[in-house]
Parts: sequence; C-alpha cells; structure tokens
Amino acid sequence: MRIFYLIIAMVAAVSSFGSAFARAEENRCLDEEKIAKQVKHFKFVVRNDELSTCDPSNVFYRVLEALVALDELPNLDSGKVFDNNIIGPSAIEYLRARVDVFEVPADWGSCKKDGVGAFVMPWRYSRRVMVCPLIENFSPLTAMGVLIHEARHLDPKRYSHVRCYRGLYQGYEACDPSYRYKGSYAAETELKIRLASTESLPKSTRREARASAFLDLLNRFNDYPRPLEPGVLVQDVDGRIFHVSESGRIQPYREVVPDAILTQVLEWATVIFDAETGAVRFFNVADAPGDLSDVLETAIDKAIREEWDVKRERVKDVLLENRDGCVLSERELACFQNGRALRVDLGGLSPRYITKWESRLGFTTDSGTIYLLPSKRFKGDVKLQVADLKKVQNPNGFVSVFPGASKTYFALTSDGRLVKTDAKLKRVFKFDSLEGYRFKKIVGQLVWSKAIDEI
Ligand SMILES: [Zn+2]
Repeated sequence: MRIFYLIIAMVAAVSSFGSAFARAEENRCLDEEKIAKQVKHFKFVVRNDELSTCDPSNVFYRVLEALVALDELPNLDSGKVFDNNIIGPSAIEYLRARVDVFEVPADWGSCKKDGVGAFVMPWRYSRRVMVCPLIENFSPLTAMGVLIHEARHLDPKRYSHVRCYRGLYQGYEACDPSYRYKGSYAAETELKIRLASTESLPKSTRREARASAFLDLLNRFNDYPRPLEPGVLVQDVDGRIFHVSESGRIQPYREVVPDAILTQVLEWATVIFDAETGAVRFFNVADAPGDLSDVLETAIDKAIREEWDVKRERVKDVLLENRDGCVLSERELACFQNGRALRVDLGGLSPRYITKWESRLGFTTDSGTIYLLPSKRFKGDVKLQVADLKKVQNPNGFVSVFPGASKTYFALTSDGRLVKTDAKLKRVFKFDSLEGYRFKKIVGQLVWSKAIDEI
C-alpha cells in the first residue's frame, strides 16, 4: 500500500503544478485543422468507438491531443545533464519515423496489466502502437511521454524492460536496467528533460516536465543514472543542508533559514519545519533551487496549532505520513493516526530527533539514547510513559541514525560528526571528506546530485 500512497502523493504533486498542456475545461473540442494534420500522418484504427475530437473519455482524444502538443513544440534544446541524445530536437519527427498506426486493441489482454497506457507488438506490427483506455487518465505530458516510449520499443533492439528492484515500481516489470541502456524509459525521460531545458517553453510546462523527469530518473532505472548517488541529507549547525553520498561526496543541497529544521525526505519533496513561522514547508522536486512550496503547510500547521495541541516553539522534529504524523516536542512525542493520538510523556529526557529503527518509530535524546514506540498500531487514544518504550543499545551515543546501503547506517555523533556505522551501531567509519563540518541533523535516504538542479 505504501506504493499506492506515494503514487497518490506524486500525482497530487505533479497535477498541482498546472500545465501548459492543460486541457481547456470549457471548450474540450480539439482544433479540427490540427487534427486533420495528424490524421494525414497517422492512421487510426477505429472500431465501435468513433475518433472523437470533443470527448476526453475517448481513447484517441488523448492520443490526438498528445500528437498535436508534440507537433507544436519548438525545436527542443538538449539537456545539459542526463541527455542521451536519443530523440533529437524534434519529438514528432522521432515518432513519425517509427509509427504509422494507432489502434485500440480488440483483445484487452495487455491493457489489463497495472499502469499500461499503450503497448506494441513489433513481431506482428512493426509500426503500430496499441492504445489502452488507461491513457484517458494520463496528463497530456504523460501521454506524450508514453507515445515516445512506445516508439522506442519499435526500434530493432526492442528495449525490453526488467523488474524494478527498488523505488515506486519495485517488483513490476517497469524499469530499464540502466539509463545508459537508452531504452524506452530513457527516451521518455529525455523528452521531459528536453522540455524542461527548452527556454522558449512556458515556465509551468518546464516545471511539470522537470518534476516528472526527476521521478523517472529515480524510479525507472535499476542503476542510478550518473551522477545520481544514494546518500542522506544532513543539516549543519548553521542550518545549511548538504547531500552526502555513500562514498562521502558532499554537495550543497539548499540554503535555508537557520531556524528551519530539516525533517524528512519524500519521493517528491524535502520537508523542513520552519520554527520561526511554525510551518512545515517543502522543497518540491519541481522547483528551482531555493524555492519553497507550501503544499501541505496549511493542513499540518493547523494540526500542530489547533488539533494536536503542541506549542510550536517547543517542536524539535516533525514526521509526516500521508495525512498523519508525529511531533516531537520538549516534553512529549505525539503521534496521530486517523484522528487518534498516541502521546508519550518524556519526563526530563531531553529528546533530540524522531528516528526510525528497523521500521519502528522512535526518538533519540541529547545523551544518545534511542527509544522506540511499541510496534503495534494504536486503536484508540493512548498515553505512554518512557518505561513503556523499548531502549536500543547505542554504545557510541549517536544522536541521529539513518539507514545507508547494505546494512550500514549513517550516524551523527554527539559532537556533530557524520560517520558510517554497522547495524549494531558499534563500529565507526569516518569520512575524510567531512573533516571540519559540524552537523545537527540527518534525514534519508535520498538519491541526488547537484546535476539535478541543472535540468
Ligand atoms: Zn515499455
């Protein structure tokens, strides 16, 4: 279900961007002249269902709309980063060079698989794309990407997919082995990168394309596209946020107000709690570096102020999960699920940060103790004492711990040094590259590179 919720979150984030390809709500009919041009280039195999240019729930409506949008694009600039030069400057030429026919299949077989908006059968039809009803639900940008994706499958190499071994589509045959493989997902991602990079396009289009490209780069390739690397975000004592990779490479991520606390990374955003205003804010993946979004600010801020009854100046850390979350303050850890509250009275503990350890939620203290909540979900309102919590052995007194690659952890020492440790928190591996830095917070995991900002 985690996947389901993340997709909801992602779709909500992407759809809220507004789009230059947005459908006209009033007049839904596509321009007859523009359609005539597409019908001249491509054949549409129509069965019961007429080729509708006014009904968005008609499968071909979405295809025609995407073709017109592709045809109207200016020459696309190549991306400065992550560009494989698969599609070239004209996406419509790329498509016309490979596809002659669009068809709604008589047998829905392949359309029934999760998430299939279109597919090809190159062994039977070398220049034909089969379109599924699901495409009606896709945004115009997504539909454009799908057409380019399918066209790539019609090349002699076919570019079959492999099972994703992590990310949003983990377990599904919905990934390419790598970005360098230059498969269908790489072609689709490249279209989005080029749209984001083309200065003559509207800002809203570029923003939507950038967000979508970023999510593709993270989730559609089993080898991370270089220079993306897994790692964590760390916040230094001055409030600046950096990315530190598994190998210890440190890159500046975002400048923020010194009082803001880095609290979380989501698939589509990095969350900070702005102690000055009491608001939870986001660095959205679609935003230019430095821009903060307030997508969920109102809901969470209201919850903290009114419903959760926590004084915001005492807030030490925040964790969001869908519409629920936890707030760690000086005296209490308060978690909320479906309107029910779990509150832990912390006595005189000096709590530091919310943490997750072996998928259980808990918190660290200034003295380096880790406490975990009971693993069961709570059914009613619950009040707990520190004695009800599980204490984790933490011989080095780390004040913040997050999982890294292959059973290692990123950990923060009480004097602010970021190190790697083992699953028992015993051994300490220092990074030479981090000499001189003093950090106050880690959150993770995040796959990132400064190169993302150049898309
Ligand atoms: Zn495919």
